Amino acid sequence: MLSDIYQKIKNGNRISQHEGLELLQNAELLELGSLANEIRLKKNSNANVTFVIDSNPNYTNICNIDCVFCAFYRHEGEHGEYTHSADYMIQKFKESATKGVTTILLQGGVNPKLNFEYYLEMIERTVKEIPEIHPHFFSTSEIIIMSEVSKLTISEVLQELWNVGLRTIPGGGAEILSDKVKKKISSKKGSSEDWLNVMREAHKIGYKTTATMMYGHIETDEDILIHFENIRKLQDEYFGFTAFIPWSFKPGNTPLEKIIPHYASSYRYLQIIALSRIYLDNFQHIQASWFSEGKKTGQIALHFGADDFGGTLLEENVHAAANFINKTNTEEVVDLIYDSGFIPQQRTTLYDIIKTYEIKKVI
Ligand code: SF4
Repeated sequence: MLSDIYQKIKNGNRISQHEGLELLQNAELLELGSLANEIRLKKNSNANVTFVIDSNPNYTNICNIDCVFCAFYRHEGEHGEYTHSADYMIQKFKESATKGVTTILLQGGVNPKLNFEYYLEMIERTVKEIPEIHPHFFSTSEIIIMSEVSKLTISEVLQELWNVGLRTIPGGGAEILSDKVKKKISSKKGSSEDWLNVMREAHKIGYKTTATMMYGHIETDEDILIHFENIRKLQDEYFGFTAFIPWSFKPGNTPLEKIIPHYASSYRYLQIIALSRIYLDNFQHIQASWFSEGKKTGQIALHFGADDFGGTLLEENVHAAANFINKTNTEEVVDLIYDSGFIPQQRTTLYDIIKTYEIKKVI
């Protein structure tokens, strides 16, 4: 059975959910990695690995969704809650731009007190006042709350955001796109279809987005395959996803910590990276993370099907709230990619190349 699936993959044929499950549960990790790497080299047929210089600030941590895996949010009035003005955020973006940042991935909690104009102002002013920054703003949950406060449809909200200059949306909030998992870990967040619907409407308009997955909590192997199937199907419709980005659940300070106190292993991460490259045959990019799984594991993932090393993350607060802190800078990312055997390339949010680091600097 496994050898038939290997042959099918080598022949360039799409595998089924059942076959994906068989690989996840029974394939040797190195075999999976080697198949994934072959596909990666066919798809991105050079020895390059891309990365983006980015920052992930947050404008509010007030949230009424109460996800049990989240250590970041506060209720309104609770100690430590904040909501920043658009002026404050624009100033922050300007400071990031002086440090070479080209992408701001901006997300908040889901704060029903903010009006729609607040979000529009942040996009419009970023585009006009800091043209060197690409706004990669607002997850699906924030788009949904915008629709509720503005009384516009999801599609109308997305069109308004597009009209003031938004072109890409981060894929956060997917977690595992299997409703039996979603009901348990984020019951107020809506269904898998809600996430998929926002993405579908965005892709229809012309947005590019990413697809993410947070695993390593209560999901089963079957749920992971359901997630893969959901995003592969949607990608077939509009080809709107630029990349797939998985990371493991970080339990620190979260209600779920009592049940799941540990991170998933590096072995699991490499399985997920390799299988995603094989299963998601309509995705151009698979992102490895130096940040969420550690620098060494991130480097190894580049040989298991990933072709992108994510962002430099000048600022990050969500994992930090779970006591998970990992830092780097552009020089180190360039070195980590070189030392993995690839040529580093700085890219934009949309994967256009800004700079190729042809020769390793010897210090
Ligand atoms: S993950 Fe997002 S939506 Fe869920 S509680 Fe945290 S901030 Fe709110």
